[in-house]
Amino acid sequence: MALGRINKFETFGSVDGPGIRFVVFTQGCPMRCKFCHNPETWSFGSGDAANSAGYEISAGDLLAKALRYKTYWGKDGGITVSGGEPLAQLDFMIEFFELAKASGVHTCIDTSGVTFSRNGATFEKIERLMKATDLLLVDIKHIDGAAHKELTGHGNENIIDFFRYLDEIRKPIWIRHVLVPGISDNDEALTRTRDFIRTLSNVERVEVLPYHAFALGKYAELGIDYALKDTQSPSAERVANANEILETDKYTRWKK
Ligand code: SF4
Repeated sequence: MALGRINKFETFGSVDGPGIRFVVFTQGCPMRCKFCHNPETWSFGSGDAANSAGYEISAGDLLAKALRYKTYWGKDGGITVSGGEPLAQLDFMIEFFELAKASGVHTCIDTSGVTFSRNGATFEKIERLMKATDLLLVDIKHIDGAAHKELTGHGNENIIDFFRYLDEIRKPIWIRHVLVPGISDNDEALTRTRDFIRTLSNVERVEVLPYHAFALGKYAELGIDYALKDTQSPSAERVANANEILETDKYTRWKK
C-alpha cells in the first residue's frame, strides 16, 4: 500500500476539470514557477503541517473521503489531483486512480509534466497511471526552453515530450495557459505555442489564465521572495489577444 503526501483537498471544486469535483492538492513540487499560487505545496519535507509539509494518507482513505461527495458530481464531475506535482507520487497515484476507476469515478490530473520520462520504471508507471486517468490539465508554461527555465527553474524539453506522448496515446487534455506580462504575454511566444498546439490531436480545450498576484500573502507568510511583485495582471485587450492567437474558440470538444 502506497501512502500519498497531500497538502489539502477541496470538496466542491468547479475550476479544475469538468463539473463539480473533489480536488486533491499533493505535497511536493520540483518546479518553482514564479507565478505559483500554491508555494505551500512545494516542500517534499516529511514534517508536520506547521512547516507546510502536508500529511500522509492511504489511497483507500482518500477515496472514501472523496466518495462522500459523489452525489454532487453529476454526469461530468469526479476527482482531480493537482499540486504540488501529482506525478512525483506515481505509486500512490496508480493506487488511488485504479481504486477510483473501480468505483466508476471520472479521474483528472493537473500536472506540469516535469517528472515525465520515457525510461524504465518511471515510464511503466506513467503508462499504467494513464490507463486509469480520463483527462489531464496541462500547460506549456513557456514554449521557449530558456525562458521556461527562467520562469520555472526547469527546461521544457521533457514537458514538450510529455505532450507528444499524451497525443500518441490519444489521452484528452485541456491546456490552461498562464499569461504573464513581460514573460509569456508576447505575440511571438503565443504564436509558437499555438503552432505547437496545432500539431496535437488530443486537445479538448484551450484556456488563457490571466496572471494574478493572488498568492502574494502566502509568499510573505512563508518568507519566500515573490519574484513577480512588480508585475501587473494583463489587460483585457492582451487577454483577448492571447485568446485569438491561441485559437481558444477552436477547441470546442468540451464546453462549459
Ligand atoms: S508546477 Fe504548479 S505547483 Fe509546481 S511551482 Fe509550478 S505552478 Fe506551482
